[in-house]
Amino acid sequence: MILETFPVGPLQCNCTILGDEEAHEAIVIDPGDEVSRIARRLRELGLKLKQILVTHAHIDHVGGALRLKQLTGAPIFFNENDVPLLKMMESQAGWIGIPTPETAPPDENLSEGLIVGLDRYPAEVIHTPGHTQGSVCLHIPSLKMLIAGDTLFAGSIGRTDLPGGNYPQIIDSIQTRLMLLSDETKVLPGHGPATTIGNERNGNPFLQPE
Ligand SMILES: [Zn+2]
Repeated sequence: MILETFPVGPLQCNCTILGDEEAHEAIVIDPGDEVSRIARRLRELGLKLKQILVTHAHIDHVGGALRLKQLTGAPIFFNENDVPLLKMMESQAGWIGIPTPETAPPDENLSEGLIVGLDRYPAEVIHTPGHTQGSVCLHIPSLKMLIAGDTLFAGSIGRTDLPGGNYPQIIDSIQTRLMLLSDETKVLPGHGPATTIGNERNGNPFLQPE
């Protein structure tokens, strides 16, 4: 198993390459920027890109997806509830002062319960609206791992003041969906350091009882 997570772009979105060195296949999650670096790393590892998975359609997560598709031929998956955010790509680029990337609707809807990813390490889609309406997390039971996008961070949660954000909804998504996972489940958030479900259940200030 190959697992590499590295921050890309001005907002340092965590991009993840998950690869199977025997099948020579990989998925890339959240290629927000630095697409040539991601493509070069896939080539170095000798991995063919199978799917581009995007946790939500904020520019720092989706910005490089179309270019990576053009370079590799891999299909783009994200939740269709985030398609409206594509129309706001220019204003999203304005927020952080970068050129507007070309984007496109998903080839496949990353819908609740869908199984995606590698044959050996399948990932189940958990729809967790709140940061955006189309935010999803990817649970990979065989690796006891959750790719959390901007829903859950180490010691924090995703912001809900941007278009499509909803605070009660993100809390509900985390409490009723993510907190069902076991304490030892490793969490790879969309920004910042990794954590575990147990650490967040016990210490995340947004998740403690009143
Ligand atoms: Zn975001």
